[in-house]
Amino acid sequence: ELARRLGVAHCHLCSSGTAALNIGLAACGVGAGDEVIIPPFTFVATVEAVLAAGAVPVFADIDETLCLDPVSIEAHISPRTKAVMVVHMCGAMARIDTIRELCDRRNLLLIEDACQSIGATFNGRSLGSFGHMGCFSFDPVKTITCGEGGAVVTDDDRLYGLAHAYADHGHDHIGDDRGAEDHPLLGTNYRISELNAAVGIAQLRRLDRILETQRRNKSILKTEMTRFPGIRFRHLPDEAGDSATFLSFMLPDETSTRQTAGALAAAGVDGCFYWYDNNWHYLRQWHHLKKMIAAAKLPAQLFDHCPDYGQIELPQSDAIMSRTISMQIKLGWSEAELQHRIEKMKAVFGR
Ligand SMILES: *Cc1c(COP(=O)(O)O)cnc(C)c1O
Repeated sequence: ELARRLGVAHCHLCSSGTAALNIGLAACGVGAGDEVIIPPFTFVATVEAVLAAGAVPVFADIDETLCLDPVSIEAHISPRTKAVMVVHMCGAMARIDTIRELCDRRNLLLIEDACQSIGATFNGRSLGSFGHMGCFSFDPVKTITCGEGGAVVTDDDRLYGLAHAYADHGHDHIGDDRGAEDHPLLGTNYRISELNAAVGIAQLRRLDRILETQRRNKSILKTEMTRFPGIRFRHLPDEAGDSATFLSFMLPDETSTRQTAGALAAAGVDGCFYWYDNNWHYLRQWHHLKKMIAAAKLPAQLFDHCPDYGQIELPQSDAIMSRTISMQIKLGWSEAELQHRIEKMKAVFGR
């Protein structure tokens, strides 16, 4: 049902979005010593999954899409680069057509972390369906949830075979006698439970209604905000495809952005995130990564080409993240609540 909704040939459910990333990397054959290009604005699971594969995370800059900048991806390609893991952050798309073209041209695997962007599209096509593998999460803060769960999708028969086997101890899943199944590869257990999956199916059937509400609420707020001085919005390569879980906007500089985030909170405009200071989604505050090589126990022969994670400089990403606020779009807002919110925002922005 999920494969049909997303317009892909295959879908395999698993225990979490993190598991989906691990399965995607494993099915693509990413392993020890390979470099994987990832963004610094993501959830830390992206980093963990690359490390769990024994591979080396290489951070490239984001641009005003809040996702990987194709120019920076290209600048970070080395002879060891095996894959790009693009993350469609906060409900909307990276420049996925350009990134896909770049990966094809440079012979790199493309894995999409679409954990935050189910239902979002680019030119009518589902995010997660552009790469070799697409990954989704159904944890409690995602657009649709099943408690805990995830999914990998692909159009590639071979990758699908590797993915479902890897996620279930290497079983080939041929026939209905588990004892007669062969093991084409070594795997592990990333199975979802059928109880969670049943909840997920019920949630999936609500997805279109959820998207419709989010898009309507975002559009009302954005229309008002275009009248506020000094605001730019996140660049959306295809605005119609935004799943509209967030409305992200930029102010002129770091000082005014930090002040505005504080003023919005003080005025009771809840659900506004200043990721630059928040520990959740941006590399700057992930202090544990600064000791990452030791923590991950990467094999000694990889140390010579591991980035020094304590010294990563991403000035373009810092310049964008230090000016960005993301406002959560809620499903449950009544018309009156939305209007009340707009009045409070007008006071903060001096209109
Ligand atoms: C939530 C999330 C994950 C991990 O999903 P879980 O189901 O919580 O393991 C991975 N990447 C991104 C971008 C996410 O937002």
